[in-house]
Amino acid sequence: MIDRSVYNGCVTVMFALAIATYFTLRKITAPYGRHITSGWGPSLPNRWGWVIMELPAVVVFAFVYFKGAHRLAVVPVSFFCLWQLHYVYRTFIFPWLIRTANKKMPVVIVLLGVAFNTFNAFINAVWISHFGPTALSWMWRVPFIAGVILFIIGFILHVSSDATLIKLRSAGGQEYHIPRGGGYRFVSCPNYLGEIIQWMGWALATFSLAGLAFAVYTVCNLLPRALDHHRWYQKNFADYPRRRMAMIPFLW
Ligand code: NDP
Repeated sequence: MIDRSVYNGCVTVMFALAIATYFTLRKITAPYGRHITSGWGPSLPNRWGWVIMELPAVVVFAFVYFKGAHRLAVVPVSFFCLWQLHYVYRTFIFPWLIRTANKKMPVVIVLLGVAFNTFNAFINAVWISHFGPTALSWMWRVPFIAGVILFIIGFILHVSSDATLIKLRSAGGQEYHIPRGGGYRFVSCPNYLGEIIQWMGWALATFSLAGLAFAVYTVCNLLPRALDHHRWYQKNFADYPRRRMAMIPFLW
């Protein structure tokens, strides 16, 4: 399917991309949602931005996966289901739940998302259907069991935290409110924390450098954004809970 040394090179690029993303996002806040600013060129409706940006994670992943030598083995199929659980939600459900009427997303953000998701889907799908573990006994080993548990905990945390934010606008309007309850008792961005836990679980369960690179990338992408959100809340709400951290409970 792909030469192993070329594949390893691709995974190394993903680690490098993660580091570059972190340092870029500590300087520039990604211009979408509450941080949108002018000067980023043409834009398109926010919902469609999400669908287009995330679509390669569903389609490219499935395409590459079904070309793999181990596509019908139980362990790769179980990884396939976990991946698609997340990305079907993110691509086809989340964009139609959010209440962001008339909001826009810069095309440049969408294109960067498409490029990232295509590359990331490729390296992860190649691993699970071609190079990764296939023996049924893998499912009784600690990394698989612990990784799947982490993945599910992270998924529940991020989906339930997304739902809390979406409910804040159930009365209408486009204003921001202070989210409360659930993970918001501890941190400003439990949705991001859940996403990070989830991909750490993926890295462990698949026992792959591709999974680890994605988990590291997710931290590098979402940690600076969580810090930006946290500062934004503190600046805009005088009564913002003082003991709430940005993303790591009790610490940060
Ligand atoms: P945000 O938390 O910024 O926003 C999520 C939605 O909730 C948006 O529709 C937003 O509206 C709305 N919202 C947020 N805060 C409030 C508030 N205080 N009051 C009312 N409405 C609010 O998340 P993102 O848009 O950055 O990300 C969405 C999801 O995608 C998250 O679950 C995240 O984990 C995931 N993601 C994953 C990435 C990865 O690298 N794996 C990268 C980026 C996102 P508005 O648009 O108007 O701000």
